[in-house]
Amino acid sequence: MRYRPRRVPSFALLAGLLAWGASPPTGAALRSVTFPGRTMGTYVNVTLVTRDSAASAPVAHRALACFTRIDSLMSNWTTTSEVARLNRDAYPRATRVQPEVARVIQQSIAAWRATDGAFDITVEPLVRLWGFLGGKPHVPPADAIAAAFRHVGTQRLDFDSTARTLRFKADSVRIDLGGIAKGYAVDVAADSLRAHGVTNALVDLTGNMFALGAPAGRAAWGIGIRDPRDRMAYFAHLEISNRGISTSGAYEQFVAADGKIYGHIFDPRTGRPAEGLLSVTVVGRNAFECDTWDTPLFVLGPRKAMQLAGARGDFAVVLVQPGTAGVDTVWVEKTLEGNFQLEPAATSLFHVVYF
Ligand code: ADP
Ligand code: MG
Repeated sequence: MRYRPRRVPSFALLAGLLAWGASPPTGAALRSVTFPGRTMGTYVNVTLVTRDSAASAPVAHRALACFTRIDSLMSNWTTTSEVARLNRDAYPRATRVQPEVARVIQQSIAAWRATDGAFDITVEPLVRLWGFLGGKPHVPPADAIAAAFRHVGTQRLDFDSTARTLRFKADSVRIDLGGIAKGYAVDVAADSLRAHGVTNALVDLTGNMFALGAPAGRAAWGIGIRDPRDRMAYFAHLEISNRGISTSGAYEQFVAADGKIYGHIFDPRTGRPAEGLLSVTVVGRNAFECDTWDTPLFVLGPRKAMQLAGARGDFAVVLVQPGTAGVDTVWVEKTLEGNFQLEPAATSLFHVVYF
């Protein structure tokens, strides 16, 4: 939800798509055509499987326009978004919430409950303090962390889903939908494509995707999972169709200090960036659910994330845990076994375990 120049082009996941998505452009054959855009502080690509790219362009552009609209509602980067307005107006009196923002807040509160507080949109004061919102990422002094931490906790929100109102119970409470809004936006764009009769397409908002159908001549889209240590574009790929997929990691926005990498995902129980995993990939029914889950699973760490994911049939995960001697462990949920493939170049760097 914010703009930051990426160290590497953020098309790592897309690289997977390029490898498998394209069919030769002969005559009026079906082929994958990508319509790129910039939104929500990052890159978006809408890829359509079409015989006529000019005729498909308006449909793709309508899908791309969804992102601009949702960004103007949910951005944590501007002062003019609906979320920025809520952060100004929701204390001391309750204020009305726009319907889509209310939906995302409602799902956030449900995720907070389902994850024992690991997903918490009130982390905003911490995200800001560490410089991940309009600053330069840095490690703040301990007393500043403790002070910001006092304002964190979804129990400090008074949200009425029927009346669609939000009230902060204290003055310094703030919300940040950065951990969930991208997935929501991807689904809205995918719905727009469906509404225009599109059956085969890929909506890719840098790490948050929905795969509709498949590319020409294939049964599924091949999605590369980015190497969290950036040694190669992607270390594995998953074949998915009519599924959402989302990846969270500490590698896109981070500060390196004390020999550690501090990322932009916070553990709301400690007030510090979560440690324990390099990345979490979630495959599920839609992109909204995937983006909702990837953040708290990252916070919970490998053991609890596996427990939680294993107990739920509605999504499946790939977790990358840092290992010793240069070999990281990739925990792949068994239900993904037939769809997951490690890249040949990655076999000496990753040890795959199905659970
Ligand atoms: P990405 O933004 O890379 O797709 P995520 O979906 O994990 O990855 O979102 C990370 C963002 O979520 C952070 O930049 C911050 O705005 C927000 N965030 C950080 N920690 C939490 C948390 N524990 N719960 C909810 N949102 C969080
Ligand atoms: Mg997320």
